[in-house]
Amino acid sequence: MATVLVYIDNPGDSLHKTDRELLTLARILGTPAAAFIGELSPAVAEELGTFGVSSVYQPSTPGLDELLVAGKAAFLSAAASATQAAAILLGNTFEAKEIAARTGIRLASGVITDAVAVSEDFQVTKSVFAGSYTVQATVTSGTPIVTVKANSVEVQPAPEGCVPETHTVDVDVPAAAARITSRIEKAASGRPTLDEAQVVVAGGRGVDGNFGPIEDLADVLGGAVGASRAATDAGWIEHAAQVGQTGKTVSPRLYISAGISGAIQQKSGMQTAKVIVAVNKDADAPVFEIADFGIVGDLSTVLPQATEEIRKR
Ligand code: FAD
Repeated sequence: MATVLVYIDNPGDSLHKTDRELLTLARILGTPAAAFIGELSPAVAEELGTFGVSSVYQPSTPGLDELLVAGKAAFLSAAASATQAAAILLGNTFEAKEIAARTGIRLASGVITDAVAVSEDFQVTKSVFAGSYTVQATVTSGTPIVTVKANSVEVQPAPEGCVPETHTVDVDVPAAAARITSRIEKAASGRPTLDEAQVVVAGGRGVDGNFGPIEDLADVLGGAVGASRAATDAGWIEHAAQVGQTGKTVSPRLYISAGISGAIQQKSGMQTAKVIVAVNKDADAPVFEIADFGIVGDLSTVLPQATEEIRKR
């Protein structure tokens, strides 16, 4: 079976949910292999084995992380050539999309972003117009390079695991036009990441600068905090919390939207949540059109009541 190469970038102590989804998809499409950047811990190697990954490719050159994405694209292209990959799968983050584009140029291959499904002949179902439609697309030249939206694949380990072998790939590192010289360390919130959370509580302009009630409810539910663009643009919360067309796409079991009107660009990032609860003081807010449960009321009253009630249980 043809090799399907999955790009995995610094997972840390265990694979991210999106890595597991890509590996599951790669095994459905062919033989999964990993183009892996970062330290490969024994736990992660074992986890890769459970997804049927028998070969892990790592760059010969350390320090690719310092070269923005140019070095990573050089590595991924080299790994694709070394494995004669039939397809390359990446996550759908801004960085992964840029790596995909640069790899596409290096390999003279087509790139498809925003995939929600890939069939065995590498025909891709792709989300367009902020998630309002899907279209079928196929790469017609070179190795298909596909960035897949989070939560598009149900994670499933391989029926039989294996012990992965590691290989080193020589990377022709481009002359550094730009180099990362320092990073801002973020304090750990203790909350799950937006992409992986089963519960997301999101606030919009209606929070009026105070994310306290949103954070409190997220914490009692063990969830992540999300936001509309109006809230991130206002600087009330970091940009990384933005859900929507130009933010993250989430598909949790429960999405609580508070003080968010429900514009199409916001919906496109959350409308695949299993259950949507909307809290808005305007009964005609568009968010109620897609909500499974709606509460017409002031979030600064409704959310603390819900938090208190859940705390009691
Ligand atoms: P508003 O539309 O102002 O709505 C605020 C809501 O809060 C209202 O419905 C109001 O009734 C309610 N409210 C006010 N006070 C309270 C209260 N006390 N209690 C309860 N309810 C209250 N937006 C995104 O979210 N994500 C994106 O990724 C995104 N990408 C975009 C990309 C493009 C190219 C463009 C053009 C726009 C994008 N937007 C995005 C912006 C989007 O169009 C909306 O402007 C934005 O989602 C509005 O945010 P909001 O719902 O918080 O604010």
